[in-house]
Formats: sequence, C-alpha cells, structure tokens
Amino acid sequence: MLLIKERQFIKEYGLKLLEKGLTKATGGNLSIYNRKENLIAISPSAISYKKINIEDIVIMNLEGEKVEGNKKPSTEFQLHRIIYKNRRDVNAVIHTHPTYSTTIACLNEEIPPVHYLIAYSGYKVPCANYAAFGSKKLAKNVYKAMGKKYNAVLMANHGLITVGENIEKALNVSEVVEYCAELYYRTKNFSEPKILSKKQMKKVINNFEDY
Ligand code: 13P
Ligand code: ZN
Repeated sequence: MLLIKERQFIKEYGLKLLEKGLTKATGGNLSIYNRKENLIAISPSAISYKKINIEDIVIMNLEGEKVEGNKKPSTEFQLHRIIYKNRRDVNAVIHTHPTYSTTIACLNEEIPPVHYLIAYSGYKVPCANYAAFGSKKLAKNVYKAMGKKYNAVLMANHGLITVGENIEKALNVSEVVEYCAELYYRTKNFSEPKILSKKQMKKVINNFEDY
C-alpha cells in the first residue's frame, strides 16, 4: 500500500476537523502531498470521517489520475492539485465549512486584519469568486485569490481552504482563521472594528518569521 503514513494522517486529521467543529457530516476534504514520491493522498468523496478506513484514502498523481484506491477521490481534487502544482512551500491542503468563515464567505467578503493572528494567512484572508463545488473553475478561482501570498482563502457561498508545509500547520491555519472570522463577525455586530494597518501587519509578519 502506498503512502501509509500520509493515509494515517488523513484519517487522524479528518477526525480532528469534526472534533474541532470545523466541518459537519461529510463536508470538506483534506490531502497531503509527498513531494519525493510525487503522489497525493486525498480523502475519499462523501464518506463520513468517522467511517474512513486507511484503505479508502485515494492516491493520485499530480496529473489528477488515480494511482491506488477503490473509492472515488474527493470531488475537490482539482482544488488540491492546482495548489500543489503552483506552491512549492505547500505539502498539505484542508478544505472545510466552518461557521464564521463561511458566514463571511456567504457575504462574498474577505477577512481584513481585525486581529494580528490573521498573519497565519498573510495580510488578510481573501475571498475567491463563487463556482460550483468540484469544478475546475472553482479550483482556478481559489488559486487566483490565493496565489503565492496567502495560506487561507474564503470560498464564496461555500467555505474555507487553508494550506501548510505539513498537515499540522494547515490545521493551525484553519483554526486561527476561523477564530479571526468569529472576532470579525462579533466586532461588526457590536460596532466597527479597528483594522490593523499594512505597516502594523508587516511588523507582525516579520516577528512571526522568528516565532
Ligand atoms: P467531498 O466529499 O467530495 O470531498 O466533497 C465535500 C465538499 O466539501 C465539497 O466542496
Ligand atoms: Zn466544500
């Protein structure tokens, strides 16, 4: 069986998405890219995270062809693939539907630097234009918003996607972005939040380099 360690991580982190309330039912998907083998381990489509066995995890190549596994890969494999093809710093991708991030995404708005921790994404969390789930167009829209600048993107009327050099880091980004989305939502309901300036965020991003 190929990529056993990555398969175990997909199973473990899939359960974490549910435990941490980042997604519900079979919503969302996650993958790990093994750069040396040039293979992606991705969650199967429409199977509850609690029911995924490690043999259900699908192994694909960067061309989007299935290499191993008898289940269907996540409908969003194009979304994962486009990121690995273009970001050499990324080896894990997590897509979820967390409540606050998705609330902002349903307004088709981005999350500005309302709190310094937005630096986990970059200067902000941009919002990608809407396209149907599982479409190539959605993958293109997300990568257009993400580029090489951000580790998180809201997906209009859909959810959140985050990336990292490993699966633990990608999960940290998801949790922190969801926290910032909640703060943005709450401050907006209360009054008008004070947004950090580009200069203030630049300092934070510099500080994080030796954190
Ligand atoms: P999959 O079950 O096919 O991964 O789809 C879930 C999802 O969130 C689609 O955007
Ligand atoms: Zn989704």
